[in-house]
Amino acid sequence: MFDFHTHKVKPDAIVAISPCDDVSSRVLYSVGVHPWMVADAGCDAWSRLDAVAREKNVVAIGETGLDKLRGPAISLQAEAFERHVSVSESVGKPLIIHCVRAYNELMSMRRRLSPSQAWVIHGFRGKPELARQLVDAGFLLSLGAKFNAATAMAIPSDKLLIESDDSDVDVASIYRSVAAARNQSVSELERSVDGTLQSLGISVD
Ligand SMILES: [Zn+2]
Repeated sequence: MFDFHTHKVKPDAIVAISPCDDVSSRVLYSVGVHPWMVADAGCDAWSRLDAVAREKNVVAIGETGLDKLRGPAISLQAEAFERHVSVSESVGKPLIIHCVRAYNELMSMRRRLSPSQAWVIHGFRGKPELARQLVDAGFLLSLGAKFNAATAMAIPSDKLLIESDDSDVDVASIYRSVAAARNQSVSELERSVDGTLQSLGISVD
């Protein structure tokens, strides 16, 4: 069962790291400067981001995003976010997004930038109405240990991913609870997530 977003180094997952971290383990990574860290990214993060993004086992860009409750000024976060968008577009890898109370800004950025790469909002906890709005606007949604059950039902199967993020909950149990909320079997959910991953150019074997 593939874990779309985690901060622990492990197989069958996308491990989110900063451009300062090393990518030598035989796992899949996403690379980005977390929105909380953009004012003080460390190392030579911004130039390293371009280089690390091209590594073969880096399959996505992020996490990046907008957080109105934490981190530096939202204008600074937005500037950093746009930088990640242009990296994602130039290397042809999807974007993994952290978004807290900034969905309108995020949707208007997507309209303005009209990216060709997929944008996936990770750890989505919003209500079904917001989920539908985001899916209509072209986003994919990844659910973690805490999610709204009605929302799990509302997300089309080809727009849905599953993750453990930084929780200690095993990803298998997240698959079980999302499958239960969607009235489907775990293996059906697993198949649809694998299909969604393939549509993002991420091959799972
Ligand atoms: Zn995370």
